[in-house]
Amino acid sequence: MPRLLRALGCLLPLTLIAAAPVQTVPDRTPGENDLQRPLVVGVYDWLTILPAPQTPADFAPGSGPREQWPLRGPLTQPFGCTGFELERPVQDCPGGFHTGIDIGLPQGTPIRAAGPGLAYPFQDTERYGNHVLIQEAGGVSTLYGHMVRTNVGWGQPVKAGDVIGFVGSTGNSTGPHLHFEVRFAGVPYDPMPYLNGSPPDPFPLPAGWPGAPPGDWRGLR
Ligand SMILES: [Zn+2]
Repeated sequence: MPRLLRALGCLLPLTLIAAAPVQTVPDRTPGENDLQRPLVVGVYDWLTILPAPQTPADFAPGSGPREQWPLRGPLTQPFGCTGFELERPVQDCPGGFHTGIDIGLPQGTPIRAAGPGLAYPFQDTERYGNHVLIQEAGGVSTLYGHMVRTNVGWGQPVKAGDVIGFVGSTGNSTGPHLHFEVRFAGVPYDPMPYLNGSPPDPFPLPAGWPGAPPGDWRGLR
């Protein structure tokens, strides 16, 4: 029943966000639960309500890379615990947890969709700056932060390789780079295995997650 109530509560913001091309990530003060796992609160909240491509009932991730490189360049910060002062501390990483990988490239370098899905542009000044979220089938989302400019409409279908924005240094950033995330059911995972072809085994998709097939009340896909 709480899930149903939550779903109903999502209808109002959906009607509001459908009308505008660019949205600001809603503010919420992180609670104790948020520190139990490395989540970015605003992004996680959005991911649960943004429409995603329907996941086929027989969906099974194939072998090989699931995501394409959004661009190629020097990796300036890996995924995971970091001592970089800009990242938020979490329980297991008091020095900060980096929820994606950073690739340093000059401002204006095109950024391409890592996989097919529905794209959403956002802007905030606190964290990701101008950024794009792509909801893919199968519960995977990709995020591209700190763009100088986004290049997609709200809910625009994109293919892998489409230019969705351009490298910048907006938000919580000290220089031009792409911050790239891969999330499964909202939880950030190391993007490298997804890019290199050895992603972790899939695990059940939570019931009601965008893109889950109809009637998948157990969230098995
Ligand atoms: Zn980063």
